[in-house]
Amino acid sequence: MSLVIAIDGPAGSGKGTITKLVANKLNLIYIDTGATYRAITYLVLKNNIDVTDNKKIVQLAKNSNIYFNEDGNIFVNDLDITNEIRSKEVSSIVSQISSIVELREIMVDLQRKMAKDKAVIMEGRDITTVVFPNASYKFYLDASVEERAKRRYKQNIKQGIDMSYDDILENIKNRDYNDMHKEVGALKRCDDQIYIDTTNLSIDEVVNTIIGYIEGVD
Ligand code: C5P
Repeated sequence: MSLVIAIDGPAGSGKGTITKLVANKLNLIYIDTGATYRAITYLVLKNNIDVTDNKKIVQLAKNSNIYFNEDGNIFVNDLDITNEIRSKEVSSIVSQISSIVELREIMVDLQRKMAKDKAVIMEGRDITTVVFPNASYKFYLDASVEERAKRRYKQNIKQGIDMSYDDILENIKNRDYNDMHKEVGALKRCDDQIYIDTTNLSIDEVVNTIIGYIEGVD
């Protein structure tokens, strides 16, 4: 297997920002698996599919071509939906959609294909446990729920997404619950992950800690 660095953690733990920075510094391909679940969720909403109609949702996933371009933008059937997948509507139902077991099988397959024969850093919820349990390095990033909501609030302001702090906190708590209680692909701690609590760490500190482990100086 080529180099795979797997990173899991709850919403707002800084995974996205940190993983991108590590990818740039170590010249790795960055794969955001949450974006793939968001892409399907976006399509479910766009096509007015009932969120409880698992069969239709799975069919939709089978018929959709989801990929990232070199800049990390996400496309579905040649349409760039990088901004659309961050909407409040998508955020509020993505954990429900991503709990469909058959959908997860399709997405895990897709994520493994995206990494094939490449040196990658991949982030999500089940990368260290399901997608790449034998990854070269496995990290679990965490932070208090209030800190995570604060970070997401600031990030949304920058991206022009209008959502109150209280709404974000509520959304993150719901997603934590759903993500940790999935039948398959739940967000889990395990013994061979390197656990990093980022609550009181700067982005640079977390990036350097991860790189330290990979380069063997930590
Ligand atoms: O990482 P992000 O918060 O964008 O992920 C959106 C949602 O996608 C998560 O809340 C989770 O429900 C789902 N997800 C998942 N498995 C992954 C990555 C994300 O179920 N590997």
